[in-house]
Amino acid sequence: MPEKYTKIKKIYEGKAKKLYTLKGHRGLLLQEFKDDATAFNALKKGKIQNKGIINCELTAFIFTYLAKKGVKNHFVKQINENEMLIKQLKIVPIEVVIRNIAAGSLLKKTKFKEGHELSKPIVEFYYKDDSLGDPMISDSHALAMKIATEKDLKTLKQMAEKINSLLKPFFRKRELKLVDFKLEFGKDSTGKIMLGDEITPDTCRLWDVKTNKKLDKDRFRFDLGGVNEAYAEVRKRILGK
Ligand code: UDP
Repeated sequence: MPEKYTKIKKIYEGKAKKLYTLKGHRGLLLQEFKDDATAFNALKKGKIQNKGIINCELTAFIFTYLAKKGVKNHFVKQINENEMLIKQLKIVPIEVVIRNIAAGSLLKKTKFKEGHELSKPIVEFYYKDDSLGDPMISDSHALAMKIATEKDLKTLKQMAEKINSLLKPFFRKRELKLVDFKLEFGKDSTGKIMLGDEITPDTCRLWDVKTNKKLDKDRFRFDLGGVNEAYAEVRKRILGK
């Protein structure tokens, strides 16, 4: 008999996901992926067909791969097409962005042209706070706000770099360039930092290796058309279906 998971309480609802506590499963949460899409700090809203299912399956697959390669993360198991069990973490309110190719907000901070291959990956921290619009911060801002210790920041950078060095060839094998992506981390009950959240076309820029066609949320952000098709294509290349 498959195990039954009964939701008790919704403890979080974000732009793309909901989190619930579960009856009889202390320390675990149910993470539900939605079809809803938002951009520009929720000024733009819409839906992407099957995104909840696609992003749940992709996150399950990628987090399983990362765990096998020694990257501790919150994924436990997929229990439904758009639901997974995760370990409950205390989220570190820092979004870690890693960039391999210039795109997005980097074009406003530097003179790099879109598509410029960076000689070394860039790691950036953003303070996760919607009311401030998630501003970019430095290590000293994070320390001053006491949202992380020096040791935490070092761990975040090291884990982000390791994940990047694993995922670049992972996507490359599937004819995708990993342009940039965002990670979130949290601490488990023992204080150990683990990867949380999701890794999907919502949180990564993915370009076709040959044509540089954008196969990610930028199609939604900038009304490029073919949004549903792009998500379906990434699913096919990674999951084979
Ligand atoms: N990103 C994200 N959530 C955010 C901001 C950024 O997942 O709240 C991802 C985004 O999809 C891209 C990378 O982080 O893959 C870098 O985003 P960027 O700083 O260029 O900002 P954006 O152009 O998305 O505003």
